[in-house]
Amino acid sequence: MREVDLRSDTVTRPTAKMREVMAKAKVGDDVYREDPTVNKLEEKAAQALGKEAALFVPSGTMGNLLAVMTHTQPGDEIILGENSHIFCYEVGGLAKLAGVQAKTLADSSGIFSPKAMQEAIRDDNIHYPRTGLICVENTHNRAGGVAVSKVKLDDICNLAIKNNLPVHLDGARLFNAAAELEIDVKSLVKNVDSVMFCISKGLAAPVGSLLVGSKEFIMQARKNRKMLGGGMRQAGMLAAAGLVALEEMTNRIDDDHNLANKFAKLVKGLDSEMIRVRNVNTNFVILEVTDDIKGLITQLADRGVKISQFGPGLLRAVIHKDISNEDINYVVNQLVDVEGKFNE
Ligand SMILES: *Cc1c(COP(=O)(O)O)cnc(C)c1O
Repeated sequence: MREVDLRSDTVTRPTAKMREVMAKAKVGDDVYREDPTVNKLEEKAAQALGKEAALFVPSGTMGNLLAVMTHTQPGDEIILGENSHIFCYEVGGLAKLAGVQAKTLADSSGIFSPKAMQEAIRDDNIHYPRTGLICVENTHNRAGGVAVSKVKLDDICNLAIKNNLPVHLDGARLFNAAAELEIDVKSLVKNVDSVMFCISKGLAAPVGSLLVGSKEFIMQARKNRKMLGGGMRQAGMLAAAGLVALEEMTNRIDDDHNLANKFAKLVKGLDSEMIRVRNVNTNFVILEVTDDIKGLITQLADRGVKISQFGPGLLRAVIHKDISNEDINYVVNQLVDVEGKFNE
């Protein structure tokens, strides 16, 4: 049976080239900063984003946590979207490990408004915590893979500068955002202080993310990474795949977006009672299901199609490099088949 995994782009497998360079990678002890391949990946990542320095970390979650810890002091308040990954899906690490409290703002469009942000910034008052950081996300996962425009991002950054506050960008899918907006990543992240991006999602490396920012910031983050247990020794084997991700995988992200559009079009073409397209952004297709959603997920799984629930009556299909045109046609045929079963 065909297997089509649409749950996330985290399921992408490393390419043949990645496995080849991983086997041959020059390595050393990265805690001593003696792994030449990690050093090279960090240099290339910083260069690609137009920042001074970068740090290779095991996951996006650790990269975001390090950013929060490094920009703030325990007891600070940070401003972030109520649907942000950092707030929703990182196990409350900001509170438990960074010791900060969250001030959340409405961000269902992908980003909160500058007005709401300005109102949320604390004055100097003996009762208040200090506002320590602004966090934004691009593409925005919970908003359905929305790419937030440079103008909107810059409005937030300009306001942050006025208030003397740093901005961290959770750019797990930064290259999807840049591709969608048809803009260089450097330009997109120019005004944020730090960025985390994942190489383990659409870029298909097996493990890891990069935290990028100023030299001083990365030096502090490196120390915090060690504290969290994220010092990784001969990590060059992983960094080697990351170099391929940066060099060869960023330019093909458009293929995923095109295929997501095609999938959405085919589902719309079904004119189905059971399943409708809510929206398609970058590599995400969000589907509305009127019938028994759990039953549909199980029926699809029985046919080799994995898809995740995204909320009440909502499914999320994520397109990535291991999904082909034929896979999409197969999924559409299975949807027709399942609807037929439901109507029997
Ligand atoms: C996946 C994701 C992360 C976390 O990355 P992990 O490597 O899974 O820890 C952070 N932010 C966003 C927006 C994500 O989609």
